[in-house]
Amino acid sequence: MRPMTASISVAVATETRPHCNVAGPRGKSVMTADRTRDFPDVPPRGGTVARRIEAVVIGIRPFLPYVHAGMVAFFVVLIVGPLILPPSPLAQNLAHAGNWLIWGLWFPLVFLSVVVAGRTWCGVFCPMGAASAWVNRIGLQRPVPGWLRWEGAPIVSFLVITILGQTVGVREYPGAVLEVFGGTFVAALIIGFLYGRGREKRAWCRHACPIGLLLGVFSRLGIVDLVPKRPVAGGDAYSERGLCPTMIDLKRKTESRHCVMCMHCVQPQSAGGLGLRLRAPGAEVANIAHHHPVASEVWFLYLATGVSLGGFLWLALPQYQWLRQTLGAWAIDRGWTWIGTSGPAWLMAVHPEAREVFVWLDFFMIIGWMVGVMLALTAALLALNALTSWIAGRFGATGRFQDRLVIIGYQVAPAAMVSLLLGLGVELFTLFPPGTASVLKLASLAFAVGWGAWLGWRILGSLRLDGLRRAIVLLPGLVASLLIAAAWWPAIAGG
Ligand code: SF4
Ligand code: SF4
Repeated sequence: MRPMTASISVAVATETRPHCNVAGPRGKSVMTADRTRDFPDVPPRGGTVARRIEAVVIGIRPFLPYVHAGMVAFFVVLIVGPLILPPSPLAQNLAHAGNWLIWGLWFPLVFLSVVVAGRTWCGVFCPMGAASAWVNRIGLQRPVPGWLRWEGAPIVSFLVITILGQTVGVREYPGAVLEVFGGTFVAALIIGFLYGRGREKRAWCRHACPIGLLLGVFSRLGIVDLVPKRPVAGGDAYSERGLCPTMIDLKRKTESRHCVMCMHCVQPQSAGGLGLRLRAPGAEVANIAHHHPVASEVWFLYLATGVSLGGFLWLALPQYQWLRQTLGAWAIDRGWTWIGTSGPAWLMAVHPEAREVFVWLDFFMIIGWMVGVMLALTAALLALNALTSWIAGRFGATGRFQDRLVIIGYQVAPAAMVSLLLGLGVELFTLFPPGTASVLKLASLAFAVGWGAWLGWRILGSLRLDGLRRAIVLLPGLVASLLIAAAWWPAIAGG
């Protein structure tokens, strides 16, 4: 791998920032990339397996509209059916099946599938993304506004949906499923209708979907990538005018996170466009300096890990109940009796028939607990990352401190991925006996720590650190992954 020779350009606040300015007189890039220099880990041609996969995908492309239509119909039946059917065993079974399909099957499988198939779920199966693209075709097609292009938008979207899902009981109640999934579906339609110039743009998927960023970050760990056959130097750029529904400037694509694998850009017989490449798991993260690292993704890794941990721990730890009692008594002593009354059902679970009625105290406690755990873990991970970046600088690593902070931050990606699987895909483990589930969780976390250490080693190598110095600098990052794994101990002990 070629070591970095200059300070690393890292996009922080804006959607895209070219690695270097190569714009020609008409605003178009005129410099063709040197593949070996600009994309050192990308083979020039896809191998036989990659070309066969391309051929299969191209073969099924004409049928995608039917797949999308079927998925939209299935999705609507799943979230609306249990509510419109009269109370009956059929309605109950549908609700039960829907719950299991979403949390036991869909989430874990979609989540893990990004490692082997990239965001194929998004491009081939997702009803929300497809519907958003359809309405874009007949919509107003306005330019995507700056507030929507803000890199923090999908982070906020993810946090709001994750926390709301906990307070309304999205895993238990069909009404909550309709609110959360139906609400995001409507939002996807509105954004799709309003924004995105061109044909079937997916502004929702690129900028606002609560799980788009999640899938995007972890697709960087995946073994599938689409790369330009004739790459142009200058780093990733945003283009609303081109073919790509997620506004990727195709010739300058160096990162996989925004690619939803729709395959619009793949033409095997053509000398241009993009081609499918297979790579080692984690290759993009190990060489992240060449693949448009962004601070918002590192923030997301920290915050999402923390919020999913908080969402698990408030149900598992007795300390939560103690704190709830203490704060409740304290509030009642001050005459704040409203805190013991329940609020609107769209904000919190109000289900007397199931003997679960949240009051305002529960609402604020759940939010406060999840946000508190999230901030505490984020602060700890950030401090360890800052220590790594500082020591790396003292030992002669390349780049500025803030750039190293972003690049090194990616090493917790595997631990964050397993955290989200444990927190949001918890139903998957209920398929196994408790002892087996504990072993699987422990093995997943151990694997994530090991993979994170390997990625950290490679990342530090790309910063020109070697030998004993590299091993010393690796330590705080290893502690960060171990800290995440240790925080999940109650999930392991609980089976
Ligand atoms: S980004 Fe979200 S809405 Fe878009 S296709 Fe992926 S999961 Fe579906
Ligand atoms: S890069 Fe190609 S496959 Fe990926 S989203 Fe854009 S057009 Fe679709």
